[in-house]
Amino acid sequence: MRWKLMCRDAADGSGDLILELPDDLLQAAGWKAGDILELEGDLANGGAIQLKNTVLCDVCGTSTAETGHGVLQAQWRDGEREGLRLCKLCFDYAMATLRREHELSHLFDEGER
Ligand SMILES: [Zn+2]
Repeated sequence: MRWKLMCRDAADGSGDLILELPDDLLQAAGWKAGDILELEGDLANGGAIQLKNTVLCDVCGTSTAETGHGVLQAQWRDGEREGLRLCKLCFDYAMATLRREHELSHLFDEGER
């Protein structure tokens, strides 16, 4: 997907540009306030830029730039959404814990699960 966005001068004498990111882009990209975005490309010469998100783990705060991140996400019928973006260590821990707790709670169940 592509968006065409306008930059505006920060008007503080710094020469900085402000790039406002619309909500539909944030949602499509899975970005949220506080995310760290890296800019690639040459904006000054009218070229396209690419924004890459560096997700920080919602549990331990570790950067997931090198490994990528896992998502534990819910979209409830009442419209509520919640979720966590996790580093590999926290994601693996969550997965292993869920499986182990499930197995323990059904240890003495009759028949196949
Ligand atoms: Zn983590």
